Amino acid sequence: MAQQRIVIKLGTSTLTDGTQRINRRRMLELAQQMVKLREQGHEVVVVSSGAMAAGREHLGVTPAQRPKKTSLLMPYKQMLAAVGQSRLMMAWEQVFGIFELKVAQVLLTRADLSDRNRYLNAREALLAILAHGIVPIVNENDAVVTEEIRVGDNDNLSALVANVVDANVLLILTDQDGLFTADPRKDPTATLIHEVSQIDDHLRSIAGVSSTNLGVGGMATKLQAAELATRSGIAVVLAHGKRPDVITSVANQERIGTRFLPQASTPDSRQRWILSDKTSGMVYVDDGAAQAIAQGKSLLHVGVRAVVGKFERGAVISVCKQNSQAEIAKGITCASSAEATRLIGKKSSEVSALMGTEFAKWLIHADDMVRI
Ligand code: GLU
Repeated sequence: MAQQRIVIKLGTSTLTDGTQRINRRRMLELAQQMVKLREQGHEVVVVSSGAMAAGREHLGVTPAQRPKKTSLLMPYKQMLAAVGQSRLMMAWEQVFGIFELKVAQVLLTRADLSDRNRYLNAREALLAILAHGIVPIVNENDAVVTEEIRVGDNDNLSALVANVVDANVLLILTDQDGLFTADPRKDPTATLIHEVSQIDDHLRSIAGVSSTNLGVGGMATKLQAAELATRSGIAVVLAHGKRPDVITSVANQERIGTRFLPQASTPDSRQRWILSDKTSGMVYVDDGAAQAIAQGKSLLHVGVRAVVGKFERGAVISVCKQNSQAEIAKGITCASSAEATRLIGKKSSEVSALMGTEFAKWLIHADDMVRI
């Protein structure tokens, strides 16, 4: 089988086995499987949660003991992560060390990936770590994140990482067998969905919002992660972390868990970055503009019907169809939201007359746009 680059997301519930402690034995089992994969010639990137859990464990506190006051909660979580992250890395170093493998800690925030240069920087670092035969262990830099710059959950972070390293497969290990037709904990008739070729509103509604008090996320964030990764041409598998040999089975293409098929188009690195950026705004366009975009043309102001949100020039924004509200593209805007609002429906000649001839005639140039 061809060599693959596999990103493996291990959630808190997988690493703690649903308890209040990091389960070193579980980590060892998982590491052992990853070693096997590497022996078969695959490359492995780990996205590991568990910093806060390891922090709680070390300090002897339970989730219920967190501060009640909202303003104190974030610094408290940062403190837990700061305490736990090094403990978590120590545990990974120990288990991989048994197999004489070295690990490298990579801590990221959304801000590190939103800026194109920093995105490329992170990419270079991760690829260098892989090239040296070292296992990168990624987590969000929880000790310094604020609401604005955080990804917030490691499902989405793992999709961003898969996107950064141009992975073939993203494996998200969780405490369920995959995505079910309903919540299996509440509905005994729920059945496992083996394969998903298109993520739609129906799937989003059944994923709903679920979470444990140990980790964050739930099915909803897993689906968001699957959507981002599959759009970037990456296959995503959602499977139970406790299943014996789960990692090696997925690498060997066995039919387990829920497999999300990658979209047919294979965007280049810059397009993947555009896809991965959290959009700060949205524009609604008319049918003519939607058609032009589908043909690979730029988005002109004349086709814009509404501007939503606040954004600056250079931000990544979403383009949606006016009638169906479906997102049809994402791209880098040449105008701020205030400018774009002023230019709604204006022809190119009017744009030049209002803003000067230097001002870009299009809102998003075709080269800066990814069709969805
Ligand atoms: N970064 C968090 C931690 O290490 C976990 C976030 C998540 O589980 O999604 O505790």
